[in-house]
Amino acid sequence: MVGVHGHPEAANLVYLCLYALQHRGQESAGICSMRGGKPLVHRAMGLVSDIFSEPTIRRLAGRHAIGHVRYSTSGGSLLQNAQPFCANTDAGPVALAHNGNLVNARGLRRELESSGAIFSTTSDSEVLMHLLARSREKNLEERLVDALSRARGAFSLVMLTRDALVAARDPHGFRPLVLGRLDGSWLVSSETCALDLIGAEVERHLDPGEMVVARRGRVLSLRPFPKPAREAFCIFEYIYFARPDSNLEGGNVYYFRKELGRLLAREHPAQADMVVPLLDSGSPAALGYSEEIGIPFETAIIRNHFVGRTFIEPAQSIRDFGVKIKHNAIPEVIKGRRVVLVDDSIVRGTTLLKISKMMRAAGAREVHVRISAPPTVSPCHYGIDMPTRSELIASSRSVREIREAIQVDSLGYLSLEGLRNLAASLKHGHCDACFSNDYPVPISAPNSPQLALFRSVNEPATDGETP
Ligand code: AMP
Repeated sequence: MVGVHGHPEAANLVYLCLYALQHRGQESAGICSMRGGKPLVHRAMGLVSDIFSEPTIRRLAGRHAIGHVRYSTSGGSLLQNAQPFCANTDAGPVALAHNGNLVNARGLRRELESSGAIFSTTSDSEVLMHLLARSREKNLEERLVDALSRARGAFSLVMLTRDALVAARDPHGFRPLVLGRLDGSWLVSSETCALDLIGAEVERHLDPGEMVVARRGRVLSLRPFPKPAREAFCIFEYIYFARPDSNLEGGNVYYFRKELGRLLAREHPAQADMVVPLLDSGSPAALGYSEEIGIPFETAIIRNHFVGRTFIEPAQSIRDFGVKIKHNAIPEVIKGRRVVLVDDSIVRGTTLLKISKMMRAAGAREVHVRISAPPTVSPCHYGIDMPTRSELIASSRSVREIREAIQVDSLGYLSLEGLRNLAASLKHGHCDACFSNDYPVPISAPNSPQLALFRSVNEPATDGETP
């Protein structure tokens, strides 16, 4: 997500920032600008580079704009679910872009529908639009507070009104959101790498539960939500999701990953001839591992960068295809050697099984795997796309069984304790539910009939994981 307030090239800047945030969503993208009190919007399926052309950006005139890249964690991969959402309310025009998952969206939607609301998407974010439109508060900022007070779970969002840019983070602070400045204009972005690209300065990260309103060149900060029992910044942003050149509120992502690799080497040393990263996600941890243990680092597997991240495509057939064409080993480097492969996580185990076979075929003498995070045992309900519990290989198998399934000589995961010790140095408390099953916000019963509303035909059913 990105937002720009008060810049003559607002839509153009949003477009550039979305380029830098493309890793956060590759299914669809959209930009909405506000001109003369009228929202102008362009949304489409696909990558940012395919969706926007110069004439399209020119049409999105105005000094204020917001943008969004999406992958589906709730609601299907459909154009109607592409954001930003725009609407006209009796308090004026509004556009909204949301990152995160609302855990009570189903209940809210049922309630809204029973009082006559008609939904045009299957996305949980549309619930917020309806709450905004129905709120009895007088202006859109107050309406947003009203709407968000009813929402549970993860939301970092940006909202555009006739004259203001509003940004808010949920009180647990699950997803990142940063405030920046450029030439006297204000920006908000999910990650700092987007601000870097356009030469904007990072002003500061929004606090959990903070809302900022940029209007007529000034920014007002509010704390409209009650403080929860704990903060819960997503640790997986550090481990995998955010770009390594971004700084999250606790520090630089690259360094954090490298430190995970060092810890991993101390916990699970290996006797080998080289440390090989699974590009790109495993690189910083592999470097940390190699430095700590004193075994050379070799990029002996090359990645084709023109294939999207396997996981982001929701259809199983595409996912398998992606893994097959994504990596290629260099036999000249591997033949007769003992290799330690380092990656950030194992989800289904598909990638590593294919890579281990590829390494053997390339002549590796031994193949060891080290993972710079604990076993992924529970799905995320707060905005990271993950399969259901039964599809997570570590939810039902021991480390030994996983090692056998992926056919490697040894396997070591970072301990939860090690991760938590490192995370203790971060500025805010974190969420590690995917590794610990400890969910900071309770999840509503997943097997209710209402679930069907949020599932399009190509989405898998959940297996009833109530923490
Ligand atoms: P799998 O082949 O299912 O075990 O997936 C493992 C690969 O997916 C690793 O290389 C991870 O870096 C990557 N990965 C982990 N979590 C996600 C996610 N939520 N979205 C996309 N890729 C992921």
